[in-house]
Amino acid sequence: MKHYMDDKRKKIGIMGGTFDPIHNAHLSLAEQAYRQFSLDAVWMLPNGNPPHKSEIRQEDVSHRIRMIQLAIEDTPYLKFCNLETSRKEYHYTFETLQHLKAAYPNMLFYFIMGADSLFEFDAWREPEIISRDCVILAAVRDHRHREQMKAKVEELEQRFGADIRLLDTPNMDIASSEIRRKIACGEDISGMVPPKVADYIKKNALYTGGRGRMHRSDALSIRDLKKELEKEMDESRFEHTIGVMYMCAALAMRYGYDLEKAMLAGLMHDCAKCMPNAKKLKTAEKNHLEITDLERRNPFMLHAKLGAFLARKKYDIEDQEVLDAIRWHTTGRPGMTLLEKIVYVADYIEPKRDKAPNLTQIRQLAFEDLNMALLRILEDTVEYLDQGDDETDDITRQTYEYYKNHV
Ligand code: FE
Ligand code: FE
Repeated sequence: MKHYMDDKRKKIGIMGGTFDPIHNAHLSLAEQAYRQFSLDAVWMLPNGNPPHKSEIRQEDVSHRIRMIQLAIEDTPYLKFCNLETSRKEYHYTFETLQHLKAAYPNMLFYFIMGADSLFEFDAWREPEIISRDCVILAAVRDHRHREQMKAKVEELEQRFGADIRLLDTPNMDIASSEIRRKIACGEDISGMVPPKVADYIKKNALYTGGRGRMHRSDALSIRDLKKELEKEMDESRFEHTIGVMYMCAALAMRYGYDLEKAMLAGLMHDCAKCMPNAKKLKTAEKNHLEITDLERRNPFMLHAKLGAFLARKKYDIEDQEVLDAIRWHTTGRPGMTLLEKIVYVADYIEPKRDKAPNLTQIRQLAFEDLNMALLRILEDTVEYLDQGDDETDDITRQTYEYYKNHV
């Protein structure tokens, strides 16, 4: 660990994010960082056009910026920083930080990240560069989580020379996607966002779905998408896809999740699977998706990442929860959302599957305790991968370790 005790530079927290919309948990995270680390200020940095997303319309960026400004205008230590949205070339965190360090040599930056990001940090672009001359603050959710994070922090400190500190946060369970969903359903969001932001959203009719871009999970589009996929997939893959879709619906019924969203995610989860491997690589390269060495050697592993990309770009699906469920359906990840778990489990247990061990048991378990079913699948998967000479995606193992301690 590096020590910045005698450092005379100003201490600036950096909080990146989509802020779509900014909400009270973002603000409380910024406040905690400010207080716990005696920062001079926290800069809020909205992403303009993150690499995994297709073009975001400028009006959306400007709405997001306006909401940030409204949310922070009465808090002097919170500042809006317009770097990523105005300069198109900064797609990655390391580029942004490099730029900030060069532009403000008299400042020491504290990069604030959510709890789950820490576990994905190895997969980020240039973690060494991010770690260099910058402190990373990782939010801790609860006590049990803290123990696990400590181990990860130690590992990352050794690997990348990072200086990572844990940031205690009140357990505030707010997600932007949930806010968007509530607004689309006409539910109340007060208490989740500052009053000024709520007013702004209302005045501008944001997230109401009226512009037809927030959610495409209506029955008609599922029907259209089904037709599209049938043309592109071979018969057995299509049958599997439909099996997963209905399995997702059944699990959504059991666990009280939005049925149509679950079906949409199930339907689209393998949308990139039937693309020939060479084309998978080429498409990923052309669109600047990150490709790990493992994926380069085994391009079929790209189909989840690529699927999320195609779902957005080609099939016009904007719902981030659905896109994330596609993105993580092969490996899982620590801290999965309910929809991610539903798709992951459904993919494994749909009726056409017959090769995996313990299927009867796992199928039953899936309707009794989703987390236990998830853990069983991860356990069997890691074991299976250990036996064969297939290379395991590190993240599958990390997910397994995570859920061993979280179920
Ligand atoms: Fe798949
Ligand atoms: Fe699948």
